[in-house]
Amino acid sequence: MKTKIAVIGAGLGGLSLLKTLEKIGLAKETILIDPKDYGEVSFAVLRSFVTPETFPTKVRKPLKEIVTSEVIQGKVEELNEHSLILEDGRIIDFEYAVIASGSSINGFENLKPSESLSLEQREYNMGVETKKVHDAKKILIIGGGPVGVELAGEIADNYKNKEITLVTGPNRLLNSLSPGAGKKAKKVLTTMGVKVLTNQYLEPIEGSINSYKSKSGQIFEADLVYKSLGIKLNNGFMKNETARYINDRGQIKVDARLMVKGSTNLFALGDITDVEEMKLGAIANMHAKLIAGNLNNLINNIGKLKEHKAMPAMGFITLGHKKGIAQLPFMRMDPMIAIKQKDLFVSMYLK
Ligand SMILES: Cc1cc2nc3c(=O)[nH]c(=O)nc-3n(C[C@H](O)[C@H](O)[C@H](O)COP(=O)(O)OP(=O)(O)OC[C@H]3O[C@@H](n4cnc5c(N)ncnc54)[C@H](O)[C@@H]3O)c2cc1C
Repeated sequence: MKTKIAVIGAGLGGLSLLKTLEKIGLAKETILIDPKDYGEVSFAVLRSFVTPETFPTKVRKPLKEIVTSEVIQGKVEELNEHSLILEDGRIIDFEYAVIASGSSINGFENLKPSESLSLEQREYNMGVETKKVHDAKKILIIGGGPVGVELAGEIADNYKNKEITLVTGPNRLLNSLSPGAGKKAKKVLTTMGVKVLTNQYLEPIEGSINSYKSKSGQIFEADLVYKSLGIKLNNGFMKNETARYINDRGQIKVDARLMVKGSTNLFALGDITDVEEMKLGAIANMHAKLIAGNLNNLINNIGKLKEHKAMPAMGFITLGHKKGIAQLPFMRMDPMIAIKQKDLFVSMYLK
């Protein structure tokens, strides 16, 4: 099989890239590859399983209803300079490839799975997760980054009768954002009844389920434990010819044009790249738009390629259904969280 452009990964960046390629007339010459047969808005997954009754918005859709390009459900096992090999042995030759394989959440793989999965299986799995939250009386959340904080807010806002503890290793919540953002998250969550503990690194207690111990010896036990310990990059296919494009953090080295450094036909976007900026869907979108334009210029031999400038720290973090933090590049404007609260950006991706 041969294609002009192969896109590895139908996450937020991959989908945004396909939408832009459609606009410039390159989607028909593109193949989109993902182990899942659906596209999903990761921002909205927490609310959709914690409180499906208050958030009936569909957060996932069959890929074939989102994009017009050819879609292959499969996992890329090996990427070479001009071809890729799928897990089932199929080979796809390409002129250009865009690596958009993103990340999963360390400790909470079910939140952003990257294994073969159908839409039906995914919805079933998330139904199981809903029941777990519903049935648990004591919930322990380990990790005070954006995912842990949003999850604590979603549960506390909907269930007033649960004992929720959020424990984090650093000395504050949201330590990738400003100290003020972390302070506010702690204050709002505490008001909602969440017990927030900082400076605590927990280790599982061997032989018992859902029991953890801090370095100072404090024991934490719960009916349900969620861990959210940062991101884990989906880079397993960067082997042999392309292994040299990975840095020691597992990221793909790109230049300002978002071309893989040292290659002439590979691009990378979003969470998987080594661009020194926060790993966000909003930024994956920016990368996608820039790469679509650069592909168009390369293929049609027009103009110079555009360059991406690393973005300063920013983030929209919900704290339950109404409150939240909106950290813009140079200031905080928390009332702007209303934009995210509307539909958690689902309509931006799944029209
Ligand atoms: C709960 C939560 C809330 C968030 N809130 C926000 C927010 O408000 N604003 C914001 O900007 N960002 C937010 N983010 C971060 C955002 O989701 C990520 O930055 C974004 O998803 C990254 O996009 P991506 O395209 O790089 O990769 P991903 O979205 O991770 O997509 C990668 C895709 O690649 C596929 N893939 C993986 N391996 C392979 C393979 N071997 N072969 C083929 N395909 C493969 C995966 O199946 C997946 O579909 C949030 C994340 C979470 C978890």
